Amino acid sequence: MGYIGRFAPSPSGPLHLGSLVAAVASYLHARIAGGQWLIRIEDIDPPREAPQASRQILETLAAFELHSDQDILFQSRYFENYLEIANKLLASGQAYRCSCSRQDIRHAGRVTPVGYRYPGTCRTRTIHEQPTAIRVRANQALGSFQDELQGTCRYNIDATTGDYVIFRNDGLPAYHLAVVLDDARQGITHIARGYDLLATTGLHIHLQQTLGLPIPKYAHFPVVVNAAKQKLSKRTGAKAVLPEDARRLAPEILRYLGADPPKSLCGRNPYHLWAWASKM
Ligand code: GLU
Repeated sequence: MGYIGRFAPSPSGPLHLGSLVAAVASYLHARIAGGQWLIRIEDIDPPREAPQASRQILETLAAFELHSDQDILFQSRYFENYLEIANKLLASGQAYRCSCSRQDIRHAGRVTPVGYRYPGTCRTRTIHEQPTAIRVRANQALGSFQDELQGTCRYNIDATTGDYVIFRNDGLPAYHLAVVLDDARQGITHIARGYDLLATTGLHIHLQQTLGLPIPKYAHFPVVVNAAKQKLSKRTGAKAVLPEDARRLAPEILRYLGADPPKSLCGRNPYHLWAWASKM
């Protein structure tokens, strides 16, 4: 089987060290397998997007010599398709409209390790006064998958998340729907991404099965944390990585991934380091 991997940043701000480590991990995972590596910009949430972030992200990736093997996909161009698929699931009864507010769910839902479980309040409701979200029925959605790094992972969507949102009540597609559709659209066979997304994988597999899409192989690698053991992110104050940081940071990124790059390659164009690491 061929290998097509990807890095799929959301343009909520510039890349930081943690996102670069994720980009390089997925890039090397693809290169070591002799596969292709694609970049996808997950720009489906305008209220959370920073102006210019997509451009900055792409400039930084280019400075790190991380180039997509195919045209870069921008999710904002596929909005109609996400809506069409959500409407199909509504028509087939696999999804339904939900007008519950966060507060309704907090009152009626049970707390689970991944937040409040949606109790299914709107499953039988036919009249909605507020704007509605679209939820997929998670009936008996439990199973397991083999993660290349984390081993056997079990999930039980029904007991944890419950019926889950694929379209939000502000009219925007949810990450889960867009990510699953675009992994299939781009023929992604392998997903190498941070451990912070492991908890969403069962839900993605359920959605792939519901839509009759292929299920890629998954590898969730450790994420970079700060001194307080929080994942680096815009919210936890991670510093932006800029194009001019590429030569200095590339060896550090490899060290985060457990490699010990030779001194002779450090400080040179990162391309040499990736070529070295791909042959390990
Ligand atoms: N866009 C997501 C993020 O930036 C990652 C999506 C994925 O790798 O599945 O967190």
